[in-house]
This record gives sequence, C-alpha cells and structure tokens, in this order.
Amino acid sequence: MKLVLKFGGTSVSSTANIRHVAKLIHSLSKKHKIISVFSAISGVTDDLIRITNLIQKGNKDAANNLAKKIIKNHLRIANDFVKNPKIRKELLEKMEKDLSELEELLHGMLLLGEVTPRSSDYLISFGERLSINLVAFALRDLGAKAIALTGKDVGIVTDSNFGESKPLMDTTRLRVSDTIESLLKKKTLPVVGGFAGADQYGNITTFGRGGSDYTATIVASSIKADEVWLMSDVDGLMTTDPKIVKNAKVLKEVSYTEAMEMALFGAKYIHPRALEPLVSKKIPLRIRSTFNIENPGTLVTASPQPNTQKTVKCVSAIRHTGLIDVRGGSMVGVPGTAATIFSTLAKVGVNIMMISQSPSESSISFIVKKNDLDKAVNALEMSLLGKIIKKVEITVDVAIIALIGSGMRGIVGVASRVFAAVAKQGVNVVMIAQGSSELNLAFVVKDADCNSAVQALHDEFELTKIN
Ligand code: ASP
Ligand code: MG
Repeated sequence: MKLVLKFGGTSVSSTANIRHVAKLIHSLSKKHKIISVFSAISGVTDDLIRITNLIQKGNKDAANNLAKKIIKNHLRIANDFVKNPKIRKELLEKMEKDLSELEELLHGMLLLGEVTPRSSDYLISFGERLSINLVAFALRDLGAKAIALTGKDVGIVTDSNFGESKPLMDTTRLRVSDTIESLLKKKTLPVVGGFAGADQYGNITTFGRGGSDYTATIVASSIKADEVWLMSDVDGLMTTDPKIVKNAKVLKEVSYTEAMEMALFGAKYIHPRALEPLVSKKIPLRIRSTFNIENPGTLVTASPQPNTQKTVKCVSAIRHTGLIDVRGGSMVGVPGTAATIFSTLAKVGVNIMMISQSPSESSISFIVKKNDLDKAVNALEMSLLGKIIKKVEITVDVAIIALIGSGMRGIVGVASRVFAAVAKQGVNVVMIAQGSSELNLAFVVKDADCNSAVQALHDEFELTKIN
C-alpha cells in the first residue's frame, strides 16, 4: 500500500521518540511505500509565534533569547542520537545551514522591527523545517535512504493568503506526484515538513495551526495514496473524554463529516480543512497512536460499515465557556439586529461558538470562550447597549455538550431521550441548538454539571458497547 503517515510534535520531541518513530517508518517501509509528514517539535511553533510578538513589541533581547533556546534544543537533539559519526556530521551540517538562515531572517526582522504576514510565515515554518532533518537522518542512521523535504520542496503550491493559505490543487498535484514518485522509484523515503508550502512566487506560506494534518492529506490526494494515518499520542477518536467517563471507547469507524464534528471538540484536534482533499478521492484516514501501534485506531471513511452506524457515536464537552444573553424589545422584527450584534463582536475578534434565538426575537443567546467574555461584553456595552439592546446578561462558567452521529438524522425521539437522561440527574439545561443537518445536537449546562450530564448520556446511548 501507498501510505501517508503524519506524526505530531510529541513524536519528535525527544531522542527516544525520534528513534522509535524512525524504526516504525523503517519497518513499515519494508512492506509498504511510506511517505511521512512531520510537525515541528512540540512547543516550537508556539515559541516562533511568540518571537514574532516580541519583535513587534520591540523586545529584541527576549526575541533573541527565545530563538537561542530553540536553536540550542535542536542542536542538543541532533548531537545526541545518531550513532554513525559520518551521518551525525552530515546532520549537524544540515542543521547549521538551516539554523543560520533562521538567524539571518531573525536579524532582518529585528532590524526592521517589523513583522509582515509574509515574514511571519517564513519564520514560523522553521519548526517543521528543522524537525524533518532529525527524522531523515535518524532513518539514514538505520540504513535507510531518506530525504528531508519542506512543503515547498515537495511541490505544494498555495495562494498567497499568508497564515491561512490554501493549496492550488492542480499544480500541487502535478508537482507533488512528480517529486514523490521519483523518490519512491529510487527507494528513498520522503520525509515531508508539514504546515507550510509556497505561493507561486516562492514565498513560504502556512496553513494555520495544526496544518500538518492538511499537508498529509494534500500529499495523499496528490499521489492517490491508499490511506492516510494521523499518528499522535491518542488511540483514536473516542466516545467521550476518558477523563470524564473511565470506560470511554475508541470508535472503530466514523464518516468524514462525523470526524470533522468530533475533531473540533475532542482530544484529537484535526485541522478544519484537512479532510477536504480526501473526500473526492474517497481516501480513508486512520487516527491512531504512535506509541500503541497494535491498536488500529479509528477509521474515517466516506461510508462507514452499516453495523458501525449507531444513532449517537460520541458525547463531547467543551468546558469553561461563557454564555451571553442579549435582550431588548427593539430587537423584535428588526432586520439586521443579529448582523449588528455579531459584526460588533467580529470587529473585536471574538469567535462565537454556538447561537440560539427565541422565535419571539426578543432574546439572542450565544457562547464564547471564557477568555473572550470580557472583550465581548465590553464591545456590546460600548456600541449597542441602550440602542438596539436593553440588557446583557452573562453566565460565566458553562459547558457545551454535543452529541454527534449521523444516525440521529431523521430519527424521532433522540432529543427526548437526551433531555430525559439529563433531567434524571437533576441537571438544568440552559440553552439548546441543533443544526438542521441533525448531525450534531448541542446544549449548554453549568460547568459543574458537565461530568454528570456526559456520564448520563454515555450510559443512555450505551456507548461503552458501541463496538
Ligand atoms: N507546527 C504547527 C502547529 O503547531 C503545525 C502542526 O503541528 O500541525 O500548529
Ligand atoms: Mg502541532
């Protein structure tokens, strides 16, 4: 099989883990064609983003110190794990070459005291650029032929929307398949840096946080891979958070759309656009653990087996959010009220996670992240209070509970089971929303009630018996 394996940051954050992953790739490559995609070492992208913030604030010393920490850490690992002295020397040379480019870039950015979207992407792409060297040379140390390629090297061409670019798939497909196929012919293992590509002019662009997943699926779609495996430190998508319900189960099979819904809530975050490149080619995706390879993980496909199609597959919770309720008689029947409220919030950068409006139109409730609550309420009071809205009420610590499963569609009685189960626990439901796709039923409770509500629903839908 032709497999694209994507490894997250923890897979490269220690010498032991790098060796483990290299051995895994090496042994799989004896039976399959393996293309691996890597994230940056855990925390490195965060640090690089922090550096851009420090440059903007004119804090040169702190920016330099943080860069030094990143450099030191990579050199320490590079010095540490390669057994063959010749290969170690080559690795160090490659690292030093990349690191001096990083230093030069940093120097230029500090000199200007300026961060543009373009220079920011160039800088934050270095996490992956460095991590792939470590893996490629670890593979060589095991006797394999391997080459480190950035997204740009492998041929991923994107638009110039820095920080959130999208691939230009037709060009990308041609270039990526050319690069990869010719390497595979030479029995050389491509080790691809995730998260970044380059626009038509050769400027480095990134896909947004978690973008290495997207790289993996773009590559997979370009070379018509048989499967993509997202390797991380969890066994797969689960019926719920195992911290809340001890015997939560790993789901065997879910659909692309279910996976997308679950990934936004659950322990395994997936880049929001990562499944797009797979859908038209129906390439299956597996979510599985690097450290527990016996477990096949969760299979994500276009059409899961009928026997895995349960009504509800997953109960997930987003904890510690805030609820805002706005009221006012002058909101009734006035077109544009919701638009005004939401654009006021958008202007201050507040993301809204859930919305519901009563048909009387006299009240709109919505949920935001706890950290955004202050900003949101402030913006509403400053620009709208006393005008279109009369009253803003907030509830500080609430949790969104979402039930996910495409089997809910068109089934009568799901909602009544849900709310009866929750009521039995004496839990009060504060707000409800269901999209008309019926893939997701979400409601809000006090955060203190979250665990008992989740447990009750996990029991009600017998999710421990799901497989
Ligand atoms: N390193 C990038 C990030 O942390 C991309 C990724 O990990 O997928 O967001
Ligand atoms: Mg990451």
